Amino acid sequence: MNLLGIDIGGTKMALSIGNELGDILVDQRFPTDPDNPQTTLDHAAGVVEDLLTRAGLTIDQIDAVGISSPGPMCSKRRMILETPNMKGWAQFKVGDFFEETFNRPTFMQNDANGAGLAEYLFGAQKGKDLVYLTMSTGIGAGIVINGEVLSGTNDLGGEVGHITLDLNGPQCGCGKTGCWEATCGGKNMADQIRAEIVSGKVQTAILDEAGGDPAKISMKEICAAVRAGDPYACGRWDVFIEKMAHAVGMLIQTLNPQAIVMGTIAIYDGDLFIPQMIERLPKYAWKGGMDVCTIEPSVLKNIGELSALAVALDGIRKREES
Ligand SMILES: [Zn+2]
Repeated sequence: MNLLGIDIGGTKMALSIGNELGDILVDQRFPTDPDNPQTTLDHAAGVVEDLLTRAGLTIDQIDAVGISSPGPMCSKRRMILETPNMKGWAQFKVGDFFEETFNRPTFMQNDANGAGLAEYLFGAQKGKDLVYLTMSTGIGAGIVINGEVLSGTNDLGGEVGHITLDLNGPQCGCGKTGCWEATCGGKNMADQIRAEIVSGKVQTAILDEAGGDPAKISMKEICAAVRAGDPYACGRWDVFIEKMAHAVGMLIQTLNPQAIVMGTIAIYDGDLFIPQMIERLPKYAWKGGMDVCTIEPSVLKNIGELSALAVALDGIRKREES
């Protein structure tokens, strides 16, 4: 089976041709124009022709097209609804564009759901009931249960980063307060720490890790300061671990999955919080649920491209079943 994957990001687009085993045959990346989807997609159509030539295939030999996009989006109408970093793409029917251009079955999911499908179809926990947690700028999940991605009634399934953990917690970009993402999301954590440093309230090695420039503070610098034993960073990290245990405990208690696979910071710095979080889980979830759930970092490389291929494979399988 040959699959065409289209991974749309705020700054770049990654196109790939791969197969049902998750092998990527050829791929190419290029910048996304955040204001003009038509220009970007016209360019993408040309890149697809190049990829087909490189792979020695014709478009008729592509079984399905999968699109992984930022959310909020609509998987049925196959378009992004709104996204702060790609304003021009709102309501643009990306799925229709590719289906009309290439005349192949075309499927679209948000990137977290795509990553959940990639873990389910190609990952170390392949075939299991699992939750993929993305932990980069924000926090989101791709939940796959009984082989189905839980996208929900209107594609808001898996938006776990906005579960409220503490009504008195920090303000979240979504408008609520105390969301999981407001406390543990990489951007929010860095913003809060930056503000405390700039106000002169705290002295911390996080600033040294960022070369003395508060603007350069990200999760990477925070983790480095935790490793170095900086007291302020370790205090923040303790809260991070507790909130992670709280939220992951709720996922285990609700979904009773076989695995929770964590992406992004867990891949490099998982040792700084996964074992510590597991120790605190008994406060938040029953032992029975914890005993059957493996919690580990993702081992998939190119998760974005694999997500798009997984959306294609999942779509074509569902179509064959129905
Ligand atoms: Zn929120």
